[in-house]
Amino acid sequence: MAPLIDPFARPISYLRVSVTDRCDFRCAYCMAEHMTFLPKAELLSLEELTRLCSAFVRLGVEKLRITGGEPLVRKGIMTFFEAMGKQLGGKQLGSGLKELTVTTNGSQLRKYAQGLADVGVKRINVSLDTLDDAKFAEVTRWGRLAQVLDGIAAAKEAGLRVKINAVALKGVNEDELFRLTEWCARDGHDLTWIEVMPMGEMEADRLDQFWSLRDLRARLAERYRLTDLAERSGGPARYVRLEETGQKVGFITPLSHNFCESCNRVRVTCTGELYMCLGQEDMADLRAPLRASPEDAGLEAAIRAAISRKPKGHDFDYSRQKVAGQVSRHMSHTGG
Ligand code: SAM
Ligand code: SF4
Repeated sequence: MAPLIDPFARPISYLRVSVTDRCDFRCAYCMAEHMTFLPKAELLSLEELTRLCSAFVRLGVEKLRITGGEPLVRKGIMTFFEAMGKQLGGKQLGSGLKELTVTTNGSQLRKYAQGLADVGVKRINVSLDTLDDAKFAEVTRWGRLAQVLDGIAAAKEAGLRVKINAVALKGVNEDELFRLTEWCARDGHDLTWIEVMPMGEMEADRLDQFWSLRDLRARLAERYRLTDLAERSGGPARYVRLEETGQKVGFITPLSHNFCESCNRVRVTCTGELYMCLGQEDMADLRAPLRASPEDAGLEAAIRAAISRKPKGHDFDYSRQKVAGQVSRHMSHTGG
């Protein structure tokens, strides 16, 4: 079967799937405190999600990242992980799935880490912006730091490699740059910093939250020797090694354009909307073809048609002190 190639000759090998828009936290940069969630009937069932992801794998997707909302609060989610885990490493005929992974807030890891490891997940991303109890409660509104740290410990016990994702937040974790770096170095986690993106309406002002990674990197360089790594993920991350600790630190600057040319990814929401670019409104409905027939021909045709419209890049722009190119959906809708 011909693999998915977009109009700019980029092969699509990476799918991120949001399995729920719900979450047990309400992070200030991600959600409004009082969110209206989708009616459950609108969500794809776990069987439909499995069918959808399997179709992408047949079309050449090698890496699947499960996200949300909080993916691990979706009821019965392990049956989906089990089904996709079986397709890893060509265990099932015609399967080129090489990596199954998850981005989580960590709150449910004590319960699920071993199960994830058992189905073949090797590495996970855990979002953690601060190591301060009070600040953590403030940023996540409903989250508790101790539960997340215990979840991370459970993941380590299960043999999962944990990468920490921290959103760079002005006035919130600026003073924890070295504390977080040192904690990650001590516990053996890679650490990736993310710039705040203008997604969804909420109370806090984006420019109030924005801490540029250029500034963050310069501060890091005051204490450590940074060596640029050639490693590319096809996404907006760039990596350095800190020579003193040996750890890898990543910078995700989605607002810069320098990653779009190698973009290898698309995203599916929990209702089956396929977004070809995180920063554009265009999407394709995959739920209708999925439900129209138990055969996958229509679904695969809809996926191909959508990929043929993948745009060159996004239009986010933080220049001149205004946020342009903002998209109206929240990050929890498309999945981070
Ligand atoms: N609930 C899971 C978690 O927090 O890891 C998965 C979903 S969350 C939407 C995925 C990632 O997006 C998290 O690392 C989160 O910090 C990040 N994120 C959410 N809203 C963001 C925004 N407006 N700008 C940048 N990153 C954001
Ligand atoms: Fe939930 Fe993740 Fe969004 Fe925080 S960032 S509110 S944990 S989905």
